[in-house]
Amino acid sequence: MRSLSIFGATGSIGEQTFDLLMRAGGPATYRTVAVTGGRNAARLAEMARALRAEVAVCADPADLATLRDALAGTTTEVAAGSQAIADAADRPADWVMSAIVGAAGLVPGLRALRHGRTLALANKESLVTAGPLLLAEAARHGARILPVDSEHSAIFQALNAEDIAAVERIILTASGGALRDWPLEALASATVSQAMAHPNWAMGQRITIDSASMFNKALEVIETREYFGIDPDRIEVIIHPESLIHSMVGFRDGAIMAHMGAPDMRHSIGYALNWPDRADLPVARLDLAQVATLTFRAPDPVRYPALRLAREVMAIRGLAGSAFNAAKEIALDHFLGGGIGFQDMAGVVEDTLARLSGEMRLGNAALTLEDIQGMDVLARIRAGEAARIRAGNRQQAIGA
Ligand code: NAD
Ligand code: MG
Repeated sequence: MRSLSIFGATGSIGEQTFDLLMRAGGPATYRTVAVTGGRNAARLAEMARALRAEVAVCADPADLATLRDALAGTTTEVAAGSQAIADAADRPADWVMSAIVGAAGLVPGLRALRHGRTLALANKESLVTAGPLLLAEAARHGARILPVDSEHSAIFQALNAEDIAAVERIILTASGGALRDWPLEALASATVSQAMAHPNWAMGQRITIDSASMFNKALEVIETREYFGIDPDRIEVIIHPESLIHSMVGFRDGAIMAHMGAPDMRHSIGYALNWPDRADLPVARLDLAQVATLTFRAPDPVRYPALRLAREVMAIRGLAGSAFNAAKEIALDHFLGGGIGFQDMAGVVEDTLARLSGEMRLGNAALTLEDIQGMDVLARIRAGEAARIRAGNRQQAIGA
């Protein structure tokens, strides 16, 4: 029986992974080793019960009692804290879903790779912050990383194991997010709930807002560069409002392979779960006559500064990915908290990169986990400073 663990089980990707596992027979088909969650210990306990997990781990030690009570009478062990989450990755499992959101997902994934596990990687932040390290560890320990991000799953499938040398370009599709059709001058006043109204995908809060700002696509461009080892100049982004083509690979002979399907993450999760086989999946089938047209347009660089910043990050490489991701996470926190406006997020990230670049911090080769984590901490401090300056300016502007 295959064994597996789910990191970030209570999130959007985690829930959809759970759904697929339960539909496939749950504990009758899979042996679940670990399930972890950030908050929502009650839900984590339900999942652990349903899957008969060996261990359930919550991030916050304050939730441990709730988790323990909810799992009383079962054989599931309980634990809490980020160290316990990382330790859970040391438990033997054939397949590991990495679906924690943000930089917190890096260490558990890295630990799983060091044990040679197959890592289904939804946590794109791992590749953005530590791509070379992750790939080197995977190679050293004979571990495989299977992409779960829909674009990267699409590219992986369209590439169909052909040599990357045969690829002329990779075309990432982007929905454009909730504010795609807003007038440019209205963006500054966009609220959290407006940015949350994604037209096609139901996802976690953070990635949904990152879709509206295109920070999500910026991360994905870097993720593409790291995962597929392709030159940044060969990665294009196109807005495709219908979200039915999940990405494309253009080969040197001019052929383009596009991957299509309903916008449902259970396709990419299920593909990674069943790879190299394909299984029946509960996703809607496209009625192409009903779809009728597919549309595309180039992204406006003024509207989406995040895409330009991603290019700058790829040019520097080193620790720039870690700084970029950390600054983006802090900028998003400040937007969610109401301190800064929607468009200030890109400004905060840009200010942070400029400060760190001026301090000559970014070009250092990202060799070790410690370097990467050190930059993560520093960039969060700098981004916090940049966000407070922008919040102050905003207050003054409102007061004036
Ligand atoms: P989410 O916010 O819905 O869930 C995140 C999970 O991580 C939850 O279980 C949460 O409790 C846990 N978590 C949060 N902070 C934590 C911490 N500090 N320590 C431990 N656990 C923590 O997020 P999501 O939308 O499911 O996204 C998960 C990852 O998958 C992200 O990297 C995201 O970019 C990527 N992804 C998501 C989608 C999607 O459709 N949701 C699509 C592509 C890629
Ligand atoms: Mg994606």
